[in-house]
Amino acid sequence: MQVVLTDQGRLLMLIVLCGLLWALESIIPLYRFRYSRVRHAMPNIALTLMLVITNLSLSFSSAYLAGFSVTNGIGLFIFLGLPSGAQIVFGVLALDLFAYFAHVLLHKSWLGWQFHRVHHSENAVDVTTAFRQHPGETIWRILWQLTAIVMFGIPLWVVVVYLILSGLNAELEHANIRLNSRVDRLLRLLLVTPNMHKVHHSRDQRETDSNYSNIFSLWDRLFGTYTGAMDFRRLNYGLDGFDVKERQTLGALLKMPFVNYKRV
Ligand SMILES: [Zn+2]
Ligand SMILES: [Zn+2]
Repeated sequence: MQVVLTDQGRLLMLIVLCGLLWALESIIPLYRFRYSRVRHAMPNIALTLMLVITNLSLSFSSAYLAGFSVTNGIGLFIFLGLPSGAQIVFGVLALDLFAYFAHVLLHKSWLGWQFHRVHHSENAVDVTTAFRQHPGETIWRILWQLTAIVMFGIPLWVVVVYLILSGLNAELEHANIRLNSRVDRLLRLLLVTPNMHKVHHSRDQRETDSNYSNIFSLWDRLFGTYTGAMDFRRLNYGLDGFDVKERQTLGALLKMPFVNYKRV
């Protein structure tokens, strides 16, 4: 019951922040896209609903594995006997490191890219892009979370805290809002900021192949995949060959992993 309540609470927080950012996008937009915002959002919202359903239907597996690890003393944190204060810090860090690996592999493997290009084929990144991902990618990311839970023995409450932070930051990163560059530079010492993630959505592959981190910018700095501030006047979102309307419908996005388009 507690898990169900937590899921509802999480969902509510995400909806509230999404509404706030949607409003802010009209007031301080980074780009003035020429599109109908509602029409543009439709396939993204449909994919977001699929993500919610996939996550909810698999949430029992995280709960089960987290409980199983604790009961059976499996995982590095349990072995080390970490107190709860350390569990939250290292648990969130471990889950975020595994999210980094999951993301890099989505780019570096042929099959991963077939799925992940659904997210990158977006040519007008805004708050609705945050959860525009194929259900296959969602399952891939959950498998990496489950691996981290078992390897480190991460308790369920830490997983829930991580998912809340990850979801809220995903919305913030994608929001089409202008951010003061000094504030951004300060924040990105620790976090992946909106300006930092936007670079990852560039059409220029040298920029796409950087800034993979999820919550903490640390991983990109550590593994040499960090790109700093860039000139937003020359940033162009999307993927060549995917801008046509026929490749942006919900049906086309769901079929995308199984169609052999050329990567330009
Ligand atoms: Zn990516
Ligand atoms: Zn993104």
